Amino acid sequence: MTALVFFIVSASDPVTNQATPVSFFGTIVFFVSALMAIVLGIVRIAKEYHRIRSCIWIFITAVLAILFFLMQHYAADPTEYYVRYDQEQANHRPVSLHPKLHFFILNGTGSELEQGARFSSDDAALGAVSPAVANMFERVVVPQLNGIWDQCGIAFDVGGINVVRAEKVKFKNLSLAELFGDHEGTRVVFFRSATEGTPWIDGALPILGVPKGDLAVFITGYRIWNTDRYQEAAAATGKDWSILTWPHVYYVNESTGDIVTPKKTLGSLAHEIGHNLGLSHPGEDDAVPENKFSKFNLLTAELKDEFGLQSELIPEQCALVKANLRRR
Ligand SMILES: [Zn+2]
Repeated sequence: MTALVFFIVSASDPVTNQATPVSFFGTIVFFVSALMAIVLGIVRIAKEYHRIRSCIWIFITAVLAILFFLMQHYAADPTEYYVRYDQEQANHRPVSLHPKLHFFILNGTGSELEQGARFSSDDAALGAVSPAVANMFERVVVPQLNGIWDQCGIAFDVGGINVVRAEKVKFKNLSLAELFGDHEGTRVVFFRSATEGTPWIDGALPILGVPKGDLAVFITGYRIWNTDRYQEAAAATGKDWSILTWPHVYYVNESTGDIVTPKKTLGSLAHEIGHNLGLSHPGEDDAVPENKFSKFNLLTAELKDEFGLQSELIPEQCALVKANLRRR
């Protein structure tokens, strides 16, 4: 029964946009529960020699086993997505461009990436991430992104990995903390329209030490609320930056930074970087007509919910991106 409760709890993880180890634990719990039920059933048969009651017990066991299996199936398996994405990483292509990515984890937004961060003083805007988080970016996040982007001969270098106190980043009459607000009772990051809000994030980049031409990635534990489309988003993009919702980290080995790869999260980030580098969704781009896009494509947002983001880039996209990168 404990196992059943545990599995229901883990399967109903509300983080729908995140890859979770639900299915990993789910599999273990499924087998443990099924085994427990069978053992208990046998013990009962042996104890009571009561045929009808034993049959009912075995029937319940079977129903529970099927139920577990179905729940397991519906609790999104992170490894189920991005088959091509993983195959992609096995290919090593020649790289000619090395743009820089600067990661900023927004402090106080409840992202587990904030854990273990150290600030030199109470006034410091930037703090150091924990060694585990630093390793995770160097060893997992950037290589996974590069596994996609080397299709265009691009490999990102890490420009920096910091935790940022948004309220300490002040410019004009604003602070970066203007990002945060309340939407229907929950704390969110507001993604405002280009005219209304995003230019002031551009203004924050030099203060954060991001050289011109480099890209910044903001990470938040909050959900992102797109005020233009009136909908929630897993990620959003400005000109030289993107914001990504990433609340949970599941370490396989904390000392080395090995994590259960959150493929949807990293796929979203790869997608937003595509926007940074000048790509648009199929049909929204003059340079690359819709019929030129393959069905599974990094920028096919429509297929996101069904299949997860796919990683294929076509030569026309690579040409655009390279031209844009050289202009930066
Ligand atoms: Zn998009």
